[in-house]
Amino acid sequence: MTLRKIALLASCLMLLYPVASPAMAHEAHVHGVGKLDVAVDGNTLSLHLDSPLVNLIGFEHAATSAAERQAASNMAKTLRDAGKVFVTTAAAGCTVTSVQLISAAIDPALLGEPAATGKSATHADHDGHADLDADFVFHCNAPDLLQNITVKLFDAFKGFVSIDVQLVTAKRQAAAKLSATSSNLVFP
Ligand SMILES: [Zn+2]
Repeated sequence: MTLRKIALLASCLMLLYPVASPAMAHEAHVHGVGKLDVAVDGNTLSLHLDSPLVNLIGFEHAATSAAERQAASNMAKTLRDAGKVFVTTAAAGCTVTSVQLISAAIDPALLGEPAATGKSATHADHDGHADLDADFVFHCNAPDLLQNITVKLFDAFKGFVSIDVQLVTAKRQAAAKLSATSSNLVFP
């Protein structure tokens, strides 16, 4: 790392510091913004989405009313059909092998998770914010042919404004910022 980069990083950290007020969760949480980590390792394509819950269901407290419970369950149903949310290059032959959805605010049962492995909904709301942590794993028959992933989260959920992507493959690393008008993640 060059001195200039270190200086830039230091100034960024100072700029970011006031945003991370004590009221915030363990990491910055900006409504409308999601984080997506994409990794290709052998035949395995893994995606980890970290998003404010509000982006997906419009609220961040425990789902108590029938409408709220329905919203949470609809979200889970949409995300569990991951092949339609993350549309991969057809030639790569990727199929979904597992999806895990976790939120401190939402009952694991509503997310389709076994209650024993999820976090309890009673821990929600300590700061009025909650995230969804979602893991998607695909098996790809021809990972070398993976050229892009079209991220349909913007179509499926109106609350997303942008998604910051970090991509890691055996050959390279890249970052991208996706939006509704630019939702195609191109592999470098
Ligand atoms: Zn929030």
